[in-house]
Amino acid sequence: MKLDLRKIYRFDPIERQPDGSLPKGGDVYYECGSCKDVVSSVSHIKAACGCGNLTGGGGTTEIKTPEQVTPLRGKLK
Ligand SMILES: [Zn+2]
Repeated sequence: MKLDLRKIYRFDPIERQPDGSLPKGGDVYYECGSCKDVVSSVSHIKAACGCGNLTGGGGTTEIKTPEQVTPLRGKLK
């Protein structure tokens, strides 16, 4: 099952942490630079982007290539 978060949330890009790492939190999402899919940074349901760069589940999201990921803040529409 594929959930299109863009239908539910409005996403705005946010800054990376000062050390270059990606922020995370309940309202933080990651956009994959390759396939443009969006996955929660703290996904509790199993979720993955189309190309497999982002894989979420169990409250964490693994990133294979962080340089290709844009952090976003999501607000309910
Ligand atoms: Zn991807």
